[in-house]
Amino acid sequence: MTETRLRFPPSPTGYLHIGGARTALYNWLYTRKTGGKLILRIEDTDTERSTKDSIDGIIEGLNWLGIDWDEGPYFQTDFSDDHRQAAKRLLSEGKAYQCFCSKETLDKKREAALAAKQNVGYDGTCRDLADEEIAEKQNSGLPSVIRFKVPTRQGKLGYNDCVLGRIESSYDEIDDFVIVRSNGSPLYLLCNVVDDIRDRISHVIRGQDHMTNTIKQLLLYEALEAPLPVFAHMPLTLDTKKAKISKRSHGEIVAVQFYRDHGFIPWAFNNFLVLLGWSPGNDQEIFEKQELIETFTLERINKSSSIFNYRKNDPKFFTDPKAIAINEHYLRSMKVEALAPMVKAELIADGLWEDEYETTRQEWFFSTLELIRDRFHTLKDFTTLGRAYFSDEYAVEEKPLKKNVLKHPGLEQWLPELADKYESLAEFSLEETERVAREFAADKDIKPGVIINGMRTVVTGQLAGASMFDILVAIGQEKVVNRLRETPRFYK
Ligand code: GLU
Repeated sequence: MTETRLRFPPSPTGYLHIGGARTALYNWLYTRKTGGKLILRIEDTDTERSTKDSIDGIIEGLNWLGIDWDEGPYFQTDFSDDHRQAAKRLLSEGKAYQCFCSKETLDKKREAALAAKQNVGYDGTCRDLADEEIAEKQNSGLPSVIRFKVPTRQGKLGYNDCVLGRIESSYDEIDDFVIVRSNGSPLYLLCNVVDDIRDRISHVIRGQDHMTNTIKQLLLYEALEAPLPVFAHMPLTLDTKKAKISKRSHGEIVAVQFYRDHGFIPWAFNNFLVLLGWSPGNDQEIFEKQELIETFTLERINKSSSIFNYRKNDPKFFTDPKAIAINEHYLRSMKVEALAPMVKAELIADGLWEDEYETTRQEWFFSTLELIRDRFHTLKDFTTLGRAYFSDEYAVEEKPLKKNVLKHPGLEQWLPELADKYESLAEFSLEETERVAREFAADKDIKPGVIINGMRTVVTGQLAGASMFDILVAIGQEKVVNRLRETPRFYK
């Protein structure tokens, strides 16, 4: 089998969004599975809408996801000669023609056809102009576009889609489409095929929204006498109301950057993305990288639309709950050595990082991450919910403050008293901290729970978490003593 060559060809007219990232991921997975090459091609021929920011954003997004490529980035505008050359060739071989119809004329005809409920397509006025007519129009300075000449009106054309099976269309449904604008710039349909032919692309994996392009492009491949690539069209991703997801209606929630900025783990996000339009054929949802590369097949890409299940206005579900659930899974179960650098980045960003966490206190750092991650959803939680482990400035949540501290006025004295006992402990261990707390509660004739919950709130600011004595040991004697001693501040 010859080498597989795939491409990801984004148009840089916006950030990398969920749909684009999924396309990139599927192409990447299939490339890695087959040991082929992935080409990154920036389709920047729409110079008015293409921006440098968008190119940077796309590349940044791919880097964050860990989707790497083997060739490129190529820029489509660097290959304008190839595109013009191809258009010239089609013209000279009679497979395309110059069309002098003005926009106004075409619009008028279109309106009339609409009104008469007739076919609104191009009527072929310039399709068979004689050479003299062409020369005459050209000499009089009339602008022209180049149209592809659909070779016949009879019969059907089609291809075998890896996902959808045989796809056909009648020739008479295809208009003579424009391949070069009147200003001489070639259009997407042509550039895209010319580049795919030059780059020897073997598989085109893209969204079903491109299927109308594919049919026209089949004609271009044929006219340019190039073999067809394998096509696999992926389902669209819709929201819960079956509308296409887009920046306009859904905001930044569809941007890959949003997930990076909200503390998602890159691989976890890929794992979420792959399930938006592909399934392994059973109910497995968690795939480590290598396993996914091996399991992924084009045939198992879903035929029907996938749903991006985003519940607006519910802060707990600030994005699709499945994305969060998958992220939690990785966050809570991955090797702590792999998690640590990601937490480090969060701590650095918040000014909470200490170099010792990588040297003398690495053991402490790793065991603390293990201890606290069980209730966390994203990497952000390490600097918010878990802030008390890395800083003395942490928020104390309203709910536990009322329930576990203020409701028990005795704690104002008890916790500072307990602090004294903790201070005098020679060994600040699990057993010792627990023994002292329980004896203290018995002495005061109060339930140990009152002391333990009060301590949790004062020392961590949180309602829930790991076992209290594990927490005390992780935070350390000095800090625990200081924090307990400051309990009266809550009663002021
Ligand atoms: N530039 C096109 C897009 O971003 C590429 C489509 C394709 O051929 O894959 O939609």
